[in-house]
Amino acid sequence: MYTKSKALFEQANKVIPGGVNSPVRAFKSVGGTPVFMQHAKGAYMYDVDGNRYVDYINSWGPMILGHAYEPVVKAIQEYATYSTSFGAPTQLEIDVAELIVSMVPNIDMVRMVNSGTEACMSALRLARGYTGRNKVIKFEGNYHGHADSFLVSAGSGVATLGLQSIPGVTSAVADDTLSVPYNNLPAVEQLIAEHPDQIAAIIVEPVAGNMGCILPQPGFLEGLRSLCDTHGILFIMDEVMTGFRLAKGGAQELFNIKADIVTFGKIIGGGMPVGAFAGKREIMEHIAPAGKVYQAGTLSGNPIAMIAGYTLLKTLKERPAIYTQLQEKTEQLIAGLRETFGAAGVVYQINHIGSMMSVHFAEYPIVDFTAASGANNELFKRFFHAMLERGVYLPPSAFESWFISNAITTEDIEFTVSAAKAAMQAIR
Ligand SMILES: *Cc1c(COP(=O)(O)O)cnc(C)c1O
Repeated sequence: MYTKSKALFEQANKVIPGGVNSPVRAFKSVGGTPVFMQHAKGAYMYDVDGNRYVDYINSWGPMILGHAYEPVVKAIQEYATYSTSFGAPTQLEIDVAELIVSMVPNIDMVRMVNSGTEACMSALRLARGYTGRNKVIKFEGNYHGHADSFLVSAGSGVATLGLQSIPGVTSAVADDTLSVPYNNLPAVEQLIAEHPDQIAAIIVEPVAGNMGCILPQPGFLEGLRSLCDTHGILFIMDEVMTGFRLAKGGAQELFNIKADIVTFGKIIGGGMPVGAFAGKREIMEHIAPAGKVYQAGTLSGNPIAMIAGYTLLKTLKERPAIYTQLQEKTEQLIAGLRETFGAAGVVYQINHIGSMMSVHFAEYPIVDFTAASGANNELFKRFFHAMLERGVYLPPSAFESWFISNAITTEDIEFTVSAAKAAMQAIR
């Protein structure tokens, strides 16, 4: 079933560290050999052995309208003929910035970068430059990309691989990153009290998606906002995952909370490598060349990436019904899974919001990283492989969120639920 994938993985391991260009793809958490993809269309991915999968990662978010979404593909083809890069400004970059400003609350200006990592790294530099302070507070199990400052108690692949401290990140850098459990306001208050006038920023995933999906408890984000106001700290909402997914204006719009700086990635590039950070003019004008906080990129604002993102974002802006449809589809899937797990007699938790969700096999609510780590990962592994064999591609780690795309149909969801029923029978 996976003959070609297995051969490719062996070949890949000789020239690519671990055989992959991003760790979670290697299936380390679930075991086995990663499946190599050949092409994808709409809700389906097809691997090199000809197996079809209903896709629940959607490139970890960007494919919110499904793979090879026609208008995006056409736009990329057209713009590629005009040159794939200029290294000089284009009108398209203004169009993209104006579109983003029109969709996202509380921002006047946007700077485009090439990944979510770059966006978060630059946002933190800006916060430090703006406040003249060094330290940052982050939350255990939140992931803000692989910049040094954020590789402390990080989620996603760092959690999947069970890494505690990362060789190569100096203690000088790590010491400036303070981390506390998600959803724990008193712990944040205590850190601020212990480090008066030293905290530049609090950075948070407004809905955590890198330790499975974990929702902010009522009052948590509001509490962070007010602590920031009281202590002159900048509030950075990392919307790399939630931006344009939970609502056209992201978590800021959904929860009605203002961030000082927001970061984007994933959906913003329509499947091309793009990130961005944004905020009010007064803060953003500290970025070079308007201000002194240096930040740059040879390929930033790349025309192919910009037209892909522009085309996708414009569709999301013009068709708000997409968000209702995504939510309905997610709820249909969850209802089917609840029935399946219930009938199989396993304990489970399903956290979800909009089109983000995850399954943890645990009997207690999953509210932070400790809770997520305590879930039955063995059962998740077996469930993952049983689903894969039945044509359903779930994230290959319980520490990742599932992403539902709008290309998925009621029939695809029914197919998925039947697969889950058969999977539970097979593995018990
Ligand atoms: C994916 C992700 C990042 C990193 O983005 P890359 O494009 O992978 O560098 C940062 N923050 C969050 C919340 C993410 O989910």
